[in-house]
Amino acid sequence: MTGRYAPSPTSDLHVGNLRTAMVAWLCARAAGEPLRLRIEDLDTGRVRPGIAERQLADLDALGITFDGPAMIQSERADAYHEALASLQTYPCFCTRREIAEASSAPHDGVRRYPGTCRDLTDAERAERARERPASLRVRADGTTCTVYDRLHGEVTGVVDDFVLRRADGAWAYNLAVVVDDIAQGVDEVVRGDDLLGSAPRQAWLTERLGAEPPTYVHVGLVVDDEGTRLAKRHGAVTLPDLAAGGEDAGRVRARLGASLGLCDADAEVSMDDLLERFDPTTIPTEPWVWPGARSDHSAP
Ligand code: GLU
Repeated sequence: MTGRYAPSPTSDLHVGNLRTAMVAWLCARAAGEPLRLRIEDLDTGRVRPGIAERQLADLDALGITFDGPAMIQSERADAYHEALASLQTYPCFCTRREIAEASSAPHDGVRRYPGTCRDLTDAERAERARERPASLRVRADGTTCTVYDRLHGEVTGVVDDFVLRRADGAWAYNLAVVVDDIAQGVDEVVRGDDLLGSAPRQAWLTERLGAEPPTYVHVGLVVDDEGTRLAKRHGAVTLPDLAAGGEDAGRVRARLGASLGLCDADAEVSMDDLLERFDPTTIPTEPWVWPGARSDHSAP
């Protein structure tokens, strides 16, 4: 088994991200297998300089370490080109708004493309191409795919014709994540359960690219007292913020370990101590409420 942790360097990691990274580390180490790091820096509009280094420093402070060099997505264009060339695709000229209007309400957080541009004639394509640039979608023809998740069991989802390359030329997350997991030899994907709905698409694409889909472990998110997903606006939720308030990395490690049922929140524990008590079959699936995180209804 090879695991991975794949943060996007858009802001400091909060305790929810750190908890998922902790589970990824524990799963890989418990199996005696490597844990790879991948920097998912394709979303150039949101990536900020210096953040990847800060994220790594925070992970390191907790004792979450990686094996081998990090893979950097912005250096992987050749691999994405090669994968794209091996897939059946078609150009799509729809705007987000057109898709929202034509498709049913999002299911599992994933809006499914209704296939509007799938069967355009060459003449129609040429005409639409004069109006706006096209994204490229894979031809999946409404198939379904079932994945196995250690916490959620078998999960089946419709695979729509999802985007592989955006109209602005950027590589889509769903293509990059699959190409890179294959290249890094990843066969167990541990990540937040907000991405559970994307797993059937990604597993299907993995098969199309000639590899075996990974096993998944979609970990419950960290939420505030009203069940809202944790975000920066919840206050002190990153390691630097918590340190400024007097809680060092050791204390945060214990609080995260406690949320996984591995220690008391005020224990002095190392990652190896947590590993000794870790059992992958007892990872909690329910969201974990970060104590003190309140919904701020005055926020914009
Ligand atoms: N880069 C994604 C994120 O930070 C995670 C993608 C994945 O684990 O598949 O949310």
